[in-house]
Amino acid sequence: MSTENTAHNAAGEPLETLGETGAAWLGEYSQVHMNVFGTPLRVMDHGQGTRVWDVDGNEYLDFLAGIAVNSVGYAHPTWVQAVAEQAAKVAHVSNYFATEPQIRLAARLVELAGAPEGSHVYFGNSGAEGNEAAIKLAKLYGRTLPGATPSMGGKPARIIALSHGFHGRTLGALSATWKPAIRKAFEPLVPNIEFVEASDVAALREAFAQTGPGRYGKGPVAAVIMELIQGEAGVRPLGADYVKAARAMCDEHGALLIIDEVQTGMGRTGSWFAFQREDLSGGITPDIVTFAKGVAGGFPMGGMIAFGAKLSALFTPGSHGSTFAGNPLAAAAALATIDIIDGENLVANAEARGIQLRDGIAACGNPLFDSVRGRGLLDAVQLTHPCAHAAMAWALEHGLIVNAVAPDALRMAPPLNVTAEEVDEAIAVLARIPADLPND
Ligand SMILES: *Cc1c(COP(=O)(O)O)cnc(C)c1O
Repeated sequence: MSTENTAHNAAGEPLETLGETGAAWLGEYSQVHMNVFGTPLRVMDHGQGTRVWDVDGNEYLDFLAGIAVNSVGYAHPTWVQAVAEQAAKVAHVSNYFATEPQIRLAARLVELAGAPEGSHVYFGNSGAEGNEAAIKLAKLYGRTLPGATPSMGGKPARIIALSHGFHGRTLGALSATWKPAIRKAFEPLVPNIEFVEASDVAALREAFAQTGPGRYGKGPVAAVIMELIQGEAGVRPLGADYVKAARAMCDEHGALLIIDEVQTGMGRTGSWFAFQREDLSGGITPDIVTFAKGVAGGFPMGGMIAFGAKLSALFTPGSHGSTFAGNPLAAAAALATIDIIDGENLVANAEARGIQLRDGIAACGNPLFDSVRGRGLLDAVQLTHPCAHAAMAWALEHGLIVNAVAPDALRMAPPLNVTAEEVDEAIAVLARIPADLPND
């Protein structure tokens, strides 16, 4: 593939849009990879801090960070050292055995979540697996509710999920994921998972009210699952009043509130967990929190925290498991990530840089931008017309990685240690995105 050297980076220097080395690799990629992701934009080689370089030597300022995963940037020396030392020590042992990093990590997560005495952690390897575990725990919980025993004339308990919610691609997590385009082809999925309109208190009340005896009555609600900021839907906060009302309804009906913090957790929104932000949650306490993406700074890791001893005790030997669960290499990566976030005050940095980013975008004067939203470093800019993919491609060619999260919105989720200068640099590129890009 030939390349035209027409694009320029933020400094105005020419940038190869896709060089010959990258193009050759992408040709091979498509020969051996199932086409579930489309053609990757570039082939990346290495990173440092907020910057990443492709195999053609082009440099990018990364405001996506592996989709909110690289929380402490690329190749942070403390993280690299922790992973290297753990790899040299022991990388995997199976759950017939335990290791110090996984034990210390579980305790740390319970502490950071402010979960009560007796709370327990289950580790998996991804966000979907965290939610699978939460759905299974909710199913066990549902069986304990009055009226949920089919052998005694009861009806199976239900799980309520929200419109536009995203919880993962495995079959259980997909059953709670709203987007018809990614769900419909795999139906029937897990039964008794229902959707209600997000942020609509009356719709949720109505769903709870359907519990009852008789032909048309449904089983009790075991759980409501939600993201406090719907990330994949375009970085859309549900609203603190709604979350508070949902908590109250769950309490009234004995249902669990599952907060999916896969994208919002680990400092991303300017607090360790989004539910700890009054302006996102109204100050509620969840029953289950799931986590993944940013937790191990680029290493695959996920899981769930069950609040309280009674709920935690519903999982017994054989209820659930995974060969890699609590893997010491992943746990060491997560401990290092948390130590860096803590030691470098990155939760506060996420809050400050997020304000700087949103204010800077709002003031940059680009007529393509309608509004900006988000918390901490999980942000999106709403575009005046649906050209997000073209805008993302333009930014990429000018040395900035952002993400077309919706046809008319760009998502930004840089590392939590992004600097003020890097935020200004990103704003300068965003300000220059042509306002007359064609619709995607
Ligand atoms: C990314 C995401 C998931 C799925 O995580 P995977 O690691 O891709 O399985 C689940 N929930 C939310 C809110 C997410 O953003």
